[in-house]
Amino acid sequence: MNIENLKNKALKNERLSVEEIFFLIQQLRNKNKQEIYKAADEVREKFMGNLIYLRGIIEFSNYCRKSCDYCGINSKVKDVKRYRIDEDEILKACHELKRNGQTTVVLQSGEDLFWTKEKMGSLIERIKKETDLAITISVGEREEDVYLYWKQCGMDRYLIRFETSNKEVFEKIHPDDNYEERIECIKTLKRIGVQTGSGFMIGLPFTDDWDIARDIDFCRELDLDMIGIGPFIANPLTPLKDNGVKHDIDFITGIISILRLANPMAHIPATTAFDVVLDHEGRQLALKRGANVFMPNSTPQKYRIDYQLYPDKPCVDESAGDCANCVVGRILSIGREIGKGPGHSIKTINN
Ligand code: SF4
Repeated sequence: MNIENLKNKALKNERLSVEEIFFLIQQLRNKNKQEIYKAADEVREKFMGNLIYLRGIIEFSNYCRKSCDYCGINSKVKDVKRYRIDEDEILKACHELKRNGQTTVVLQSGEDLFWTKEKMGSLIERIKKETDLAITISVGEREEDVYLYWKQCGMDRYLIRFETSNKEVFEKIHPDDNYEERIECIKTLKRIGVQTGSGFMIGLPFTDDWDIARDIDFCRELDLDMIGIGPFIANPLTPLKDNGVKHDIDFITGIISILRLANPMAHIPATTAFDVVLDHEGRQLALKRGANVFMPNSTPQKYRIDYQLYPDKPCVDESAGDCANCVVGRILSIGREIGKGPGHSIKTINN
């Protein structure tokens, strides 16, 4: 087994085994990083090209019925000012992100049942009609008929992370959730033809490198269209406040590389949490090491401070326009171009 052979497998889109993925993780640990980064960049270029797609996130409600042990807006956290952005203000933010060159809106919130099947459906229809943006929804676990209805209303994609493929750890840190039900949500979305994104956290407490290898392989097994991962960052307001680890940016961006080698055809965003580990540079490194999507924060500025799943989240003081300009500069600075189309899954739909 060596990195070159595994890269060649990836270039043919052949599935890596869990043992091969674990081997690559050990290579990262052994400081054999540059070869892995380079291999991932080559595979990214072959399958995804040089374009980077911008998907503006609007965090439209921080109410949540759940109490995940790592999350700063979980229902038990009292020191958070709760907000919901109304439909007109969401639409205004959608128009602005479109003007800023972003081709997808990602509507994200806690599990807030105020946003019923019908209310979300009408919001989706209105966004589609007025802006024609691609629409990604990320509002947690719902029933199949709800997902289907939103799809009929114009939803293109759905994001719901599994967080860890280790059932025991999943249930330990998600007191309200059942592992099988979470996975069933992901499989349901795939089955009904919604482009499906999921992912996991690197360095969750009670996990090790074998867990990371299994998480990466599980993304392949689920045949995900998008895979979002990020480092676990301990939030002082939560039960896992004392379980933080100091992340090495070269290791965690190397996990992006291995994710790319194991999932050549998936969209992989450089998520905001990489910037927490290396201020203002983490996301560029992720893009250079296998990622191909950037998700600027397009939430109206006054709400941002109250949507912090983890501490020190970047860009909370900036406006959507500031973020949009900054993002363009960051992408051009690494010699890549911005995708003009919707950036749909290359597995299902032509862009
Ligand atoms: S991770 Fe999501 S579901 Fe869990 S508490 Fe936070 S917002 Fe709610």
